[in-house]
Amino acid sequence: MRLGFSYSGEGMALPPDTRVMPFDAEAIAEASRLILAGQPVAMPTETVYGLAADATSAVAVAHIYTAKGRPSFNPLIVHVPDFGAAERIGNFDERARALAIEHWPGPLTLVVPLRDGAGIASLVTAGLATVALRVPAHPAMQALLKACARPLAAPSANASGLISPTRASHVLASLGGRIPLVVDGGATQRGIESTIVAATGGPLRLLRRGPIEINDLAIEQPAGIEAPGQLASHYAPSKPLRLDATEARDGETLIGYGPVAGDLSLSGTGDPVEAAAKLFDLLHRADAMPKPKIAIAPILGNGIAAAIRDRLKRAAAPRPSTAPDSSS
Ligand code: AMP
Ligand code: MG
Repeated sequence: MRLGFSYSGEGMALPPDTRVMPFDAEAIAEASRLILAGQPVAMPTETVYGLAADATSAVAVAHIYTAKGRPSFNPLIVHVPDFGAAERIGNFDERARALAIEHWPGPLTLVVPLRDGAGIASLVTAGLATVALRVPAHPAMQALLKACARPLAAPSANASGLISPTRASHVLASLGGRIPLVVDGGATQRGIESTIVAATGGPLRLLRRGPIEINDLAIEQPAGIEAPGQLASHYAPSKPLRLDATEARDGETLIGYGPVAGDLSLSGTGDPVEAAAKLFDLLHRADAMPKPKIAIAPILGNGIAAAIRDRLKRAAAPRPSTAPDSSS
């Protein structure tokens, strides 16, 4: 597996300095080259600067997480050049199609059912059967999408826990030395993240308020706040999951890591980036196997390894609807 260059904090070589290139044809060519080599690139959009990576490559997407130092895996927004490209990835019902036609390109994200065989890495959707899609209006992001001919996963281009960047200098202050390139398109126009609407069956739901006002539509706002990483819809396997297992007990499929071999392995060499890239695929595979339970090896370390542990803890927690009082 080709990992490209790696980042500090993951026990690997330090990256080269971060380049800042003004948005022009040369910058887009360089950004496209890096994207196709599996690396993340900071790009201006009309909302905030995004950290873009090839959404069809799990390892490229894992690099978004190592660069941002995100403590947990949330589903990411997939950027595409036009509605036709979006339709090849997601299934749009009439209402979703109408919103897309009205607001794209623009700062509206639509969460729709993921098409079979769409080729989106499961780390992008965090294992969900739905996908968040957006057609950005910014000419730089549009140019990159066309140049690399890949859907691009792109959360905001800031280190985890910091505010979203609206200038290239903000990106540099936050991710300098952790990513190879920032394409500088000046200050972003909108400065806040896209409006998110889910069209996944039943009434449309407003998941995040943003630049596009959709109050005139009959949109149901979910009760309470769906904080990122705490969506009720987050993928969890249907079978009980036991953490920190060094061997399989009766009835368990063991997902190994490093020295723990297992029936399946996240990474034989104990590489956390490779493990993050495979995490959701292996959980789905173990869920589909005949044995009634899943066990998973310890994932030790900081950075993206901690994000994997956080995600596994959520996946292993008893569902509130089935076991409200379990404390073990
Ligand atoms: P960011 O990319 O950091 O602006 O955040 C993306 C937002 O989209 C987060 O709040 C996610 O939880 C939400 N999101 C992305 N994909 C999905 C999905 N499949 N279902 C529900 N929410 C999603
Ligand atoms: Mg953000």
